[in-house]
Amino acid sequence: MDKKQIYHSVKLEKDKCVGCTTCLKRCPMECIRVRNGKASILYELCIDCGVCVRICPHNAKVAQTDPINEIFRYKHRIALPAPTLYGQFRNVTSVDHVLSALLSLGFSDVFEVARAADIVSATMRELLKTTTARPLISSACPAVVALIQVRFPELLPNVANVLSPKEVAGKMAKEEYSREHNVPIEEIGAFFITPCPAKMASIHSGRSGYVDGAIAIQDIYGLLSSQLRQPVSEKIRKKRHASWQGVNWATYGGECASLHRSNTLSVDGIHNVIYALEEIENGKLDDLEFFEGSACEGGCVGGPLVFENAFVAQNTVRKLVERMREEDGDLPPALPAPRDDILTDPCAPRDTLKLSDNIAEAISMMERIDELTKTFKGLDCGSCGSPTCRTLAEDIVLGYAKEVDCVFKLKEKVEQLARQMVDLTNL
Ligand code: SF4
Ligand code: SF4
Repeated sequence: MDKKQIYHSVKLEKDKCVGCTTCLKRCPMECIRVRNGKASILYELCIDCGVCVRICPHNAKVAQTDPINEIFRYKHRIALPAPTLYGQFRNVTSVDHVLSALLSLGFSDVFEVARAADIVSATMRELLKTTTARPLISSACPAVVALIQVRFPELLPNVANVLSPKEVAGKMAKEEYSREHNVPIEEIGAFFITPCPAKMASIHSGRSGYVDGAIAIQDIYGLLSSQLRQPVSEKIRKKRHASWQGVNWATYGGECASLHRSNTLSVDGIHNVIYALEEIENGKLDDLEFFEGSACEGGCVGGPLVFENAFVAQNTVRKLVERMREEDGDLPPALPAPRDDILTDPCAPRDTLKLSDNIAEAISMMERIDELTKTFKGLDCGSCGSPTCRTLAEDIVLGYAKEVDCVFKLKEKVEQLARQMVDLTNL
């Protein structure tokens, strides 16, 4: 994917933006600027985490996903529901009701992403035996993978070269459907039912090409709710289902739990993930076997495109998993065999903002940025339209901002001019 055009799901609806700077202060990548009363995104740094979508009080930041009608571009249409979808319906007693409701929206078939998660778990267990990278870092959350590509490229060799569950689901769903119905793969469209913009972005940046689109959970929640009381379809009854362990991936820690290793770490929330990655980069967590980072708090149930409150959804998933475990006699599920065909090329770094291609010039610009930063108050107030004093210094050196964008510098300048005026009138 990495040398291809990167698609971004998160966009600004400029008309709605009032330039309040709320998003600028919370963006974990410091990639929002507010100039002339409007926000803009430096897409070279954006990881589509959706923090700004969640917090903009004016709904000016939006996550673009595919409308449900997109599925009808394909003769055969498969829904790939994230396990998070099950957590949206408080009274659901079986995933079969949700899967049947998806068929009623016009899908020809469904393939649980939780089932693919079981395969990823099995493959990851094997990888832990053969790879020496420690900690091995999960490739499941695309916002975390993008974060590593942009900000922690030294850690890229630690990222597991395994397709994410949604990509494995797309691959297997198409292969199985093509075989069973004797139709060409090109006629089959696989659509992920997504909790977050990062997954939409990764699908349309085309890392694997196994998934053709992403539909936001919140966009089809109402349609699905109205269908949940319908009897379970015979087709769904006969399907192979995911284990409770795969469904448990909806909440953070689910992936680590599926590995059955003691020395693993799960961290949720993008700011916490950044802190943990800094620790890994500094060699402070070298004894760790596996690291699972989720950009959203609580894991995928906390995604910005879900309908249900993250805590309630977490509880619903937990109850569902408990029920499934009881039905299984509380035994660990028999995982499918690991698969070599879901291994991928290693992740490459992304091209990000550079000061200059000329090293000497870049060093001199860096020195200028350091000097300028020292002249600011260090309050990181954001009033200048850059998220921190240092980013303002960078913006000035790159020619995107002026020193007087800083309110304190402006005040100094005005006071200086006032003094000069007084001096002139006294002549
Ligand atoms: S939060 Fe950001 S996008 Fe929303 S209105 Fe304020 S500056 Fe504009
Ligand atoms: S999606 Fe995340 S990284 Fe991108 S601009 Fe919004 S808060 Fe920043």
